[in-house]
Amino acid sequence: VPTGSTPLEVEGLRRTFGGIVAVDDVSFDVEAGTLTGLIGPNGAGKSTTFNLITGMLEPDEGTVRFNGEDITGLEPHEIANQGLARTFQIARELEEMTVLENMMLAPKGQVGESLWRSVMPITRGEVREQETDQLERVWEVLDFFEIDHLAEEYAGNLSGGQRKLLEMARALLTDPDMLLLDEPFAGVNPSLEKRLLEHIHELREQGYTFLIVEHDMDLIMNNCERVIVMHQGRVLKDGTPAEIKESEDVIEAYLGG
Ligand code: ADP
Ligand code: MG
Repeated sequence: VPTGSTPLEVEGLRRTFGGIVAVDDVSFDVEAGTLTGLIGPNGAGKSTTFNLITGMLEPDEGTVRFNGEDITGLEPHEIANQGLARTFQIARELEEMTVLENMMLAPKGQVGESLWRSVMPITRGEVREQETDQLERVWEVLDFFEIDHLAEEYAGNLSGGQRKLLEMARALLTDPDMLLLDEPFAGVNPSLEKRLLEHIHELREQGYTFLIVEHDMDLIMNNCERVIVMHQGRVLKDGTPAEIKESEDVIEAYLGG
């Protein structure tokens, strides 16, 4: 259960690739317990922003604070360990493992092997006890996402939508306060999209905070209470869906590409 207060504060983020300014002076906050959407046309800088926040990329300038702590430039596993989780696509090697095995490996893989080992030198008995606790939590999360019946299925055999559920289930195992999702509905059929959204809303009610990166504007407008619109590396508009809908700049950015 989340414990954080003011999850995320992004200030003056900038990132270039050669001559391309992918993210240019981007600032925004995400308030605790909200569903916040980050939208924008292709190439707007959404994924780069996502990667800068989650430690996959280092910013040229700017800071990222999470629960009051400066997390700029930390390693992805360190950021995950602070309670800021992201989803990962199921890697090729993990497709040959079952859903249950994927779940058992999740916190280990995401907080980093070295960190896992450095927590303390533990005895065999203690390992078993930890694994029993973990197994209990794994079943709880599988049950929550209604994929417990798929526990013995190979991850490679899951549908696009079932994979997204597993990715989110894995992220939840790191006990985060906040989850960042990059295009969680891509390749998901309408009925599973509805289910995914229901799970997200339910988790939000439990106190989790979400930042969802999407290019589907309607989906974000209908589900988030806060929307940040990016265009050409910058924040174009930040407000409620109603405020975003009225913005001429936003309409133009989407129509003009
Ligand atoms: P979005 O997710 O909104 O579609 P991205 O953040 O992926 O946008 O990309 C923003 C801009 O940065 C684009 O012009 C893209 O081509 C460029 N870009 C992103 N990642 C890289 C990279 N690793 N190397 C070079 N250019 C990149
Ligand atoms: Mg993207």
